[in-house]
Amino acid sequence: MKIKEQIKSNQFVVNYGRMWPFVKPIWPIALLSLLICIPVGSLDAAIALFLKPYTDIVVVGRNMESPWYIPLLIVGFTSVQGLLNFGGTYLNAWVGGKLTMAVRRRLYAKMVTMEPAYFDKKTSGEVLFRFNQDADMACSGLLTNLKSFITRICSSTALICVLFYNSWQLSIVAIIILVVAVAPLTKVKKLIKSLVAKNTQCMFQVNTTYNETFAGNRTITAYNLQERQKQHFNKLLDDVFALVIAMTRRTAWLSPFMHFAVSIGLGLAIAYGSWLIVQGTITPGNFVSFLTALLMLYTPLKNIGNVAVHVQHSFLAIERVFDILERTERLIEKEDAKPLDGVKHGITFEDVHFAYDNKVEVLRRINLDVKVGEMIALVGNSGGGKSTLVSLIPRFYDAVKGSIKIDGVDIREFSLYDLRENIAVVFQDNFLFDGTIKENILLGKPSATDEEVKQALESACLTEFIDSLEKGVETYIGERGILLSGGQKQRVAIARAFLKNAPIVILDEATSALDNKSEEIVQKAIDNLMKDKTVFVIAHRLSTVKNADRIAVINEGDLAELGTHEELMAIPNGKYRTLYNMQFKDPKEAA
Ligand code: ADP
Ligand code: MG
Repeated sequence: MKIKEQIKSNQFVVNYGRMWPFVKPIWPIALLSLLICIPVGSLDAAIALFLKPYTDIVVVGRNMESPWYIPLLIVGFTSVQGLLNFGGTYLNAWVGGKLTMAVRRRLYAKMVTMEPAYFDKKTSGEVLFRFNQDADMACSGLLTNLKSFITRICSSTALICVLFYNSWQLSIVAIIILVVAVAPLTKVKKLIKSLVAKNTQCMFQVNTTYNETFAGNRTITAYNLQERQKQHFNKLLDDVFALVIAMTRRTAWLSPFMHFAVSIGLGLAIAYGSWLIVQGTITPGNFVSFLTALLMLYTPLKNIGNVAVHVQHSFLAIERVFDILERTERLIEKEDAKPLDGVKHGITFEDVHFAYDNKVEVLRRINLDVKVGEMIALVGNSGGGKSTLVSLIPRFYDAVKGSIKIDGVDIREFSLYDLRENIAVVFQDNFLFDGTIKENILLGKPSATDEEVKQALESACLTEFIDSLEKGVETYIGERGILLSGGQKQRVAIARAFLKNAPIVILDEATSALDNKSEEIVQKAIDNLMKDKTVFVIAHRLSTVKNADRIAVINEGDLAELGTHEELMAIPNGKYRTLYNMQFKDPKEAA
């Protein structure tokens, strides 16, 4: 029982077991790539074995006739071994490549479904490392090590057979030494685990620094941050270096220790072996063959320390990979999720509370009922919680308390896909993909006709700009749309949302980067296109807000005022009135 438990908790069993689902689809070839190690390993022993008749007959017996075949056989065997080696390397690359690809695909599939809160707390460097580099480290190590492990086991078993064939007495001495020599390997994980964790942290930061330097290159230039960046980066590299050296300090003694143990083994074998020859217990041929086998057995031990460290690196990477793959979803879709096809009555916020990290409440007691066809504007101080409020609708986050309902049904009842299909969002800072304007707009509705695209462009006040471009909608806009101005980017995002034509529309400071003229045009298009839709619009310019059916003032997480422009203006010292006056006419009243 105890042994069974021990095997079950053995890290080799655990880690190889976890990887099994990835190996399963290609197991015959994976097995072949391992089986090929058996002859490769065992053939080593053949060479040692042949030295016995050779020594006895030729060296000692001075007889030239019988063993003429030995040199030929050695060359023959080595050639076969070489061919098998080629096959092994080829299969290894194939299986390793397939494995890494499968792991990377699973990780990426997980990545695209991660909820925004997951990314909020991560740096780009960590994400890149854990979803990309870890897959490599986990798989490459795994197969190479399993392969060399099997080769070693086979060659060791065969060599040990040769040892026993020649002299059991010597063999026992040799094997005791072997066991002593490899004993410290069981401690490798403990030695490196904390350092590996620190090292990965550093690597996250290195990755992040590269990303920041790329994305923030203009800020770096504008604020002369080159020196600061260089120093930061140099410090990181120093840290990485220190950790690598520390790791080496902790593990580099393994190989010399084994070397030392092995030399004792050899010394003992020679001393004891000479005595056995003199006694006549074994022939000189036995002795030469034994020593050769022993040298072959011991040689790999010299760098087995490095191999063990490599194995542990790979195991720790597997642990990190499965931390991600086995992570429970935070934003759960119900098993019997309902479909959602349009909105008939409206959206209701019922006593909604929300906190990022379950700490400070960012939204409190939000009660709000928005009818289909209604446009509701959210205004209020910056950081008050407007963006947070609307981000709860497509379930970027879930309310901590209370619920949001569409036609009386909690949005957590709906399939996530359907829910998001029914919502078009335009943010202040929109993400555009590397590609052309058209490609980016079509994301709203991949099946859209050219006519529809044209219409969307028109509504988003983009036609004039597009016409001025040599390649029109086929113009390449660069990663994150870097080749467009802020206002142009926003209009592309608005066109994308227009094309999606979803029943719920969220415009989070969507027109903040537009000039007054285009804002007016876009605003008109919004008014027209959004007639039968449920629209949430967040805007700082109260001129755009005035037309909304109702206005909600969100201040420090509370829904402070709710009503039409006129109603809110009628509240003496009202918050909206103060805001409005501050922007428009009466600075005295505002103050
Ligand atoms: P608004 O859109 O009204 O300017 P937000 O909804 O963006 O305000 O922010 C409300 C509060 O929530 C702010 O105090 C902000 O610091 C905090 N906040 C916003 N996003 C996050 C996030 N992803 N993680 C933690 N806190 C956040
Ligand atoms: Mg905001």
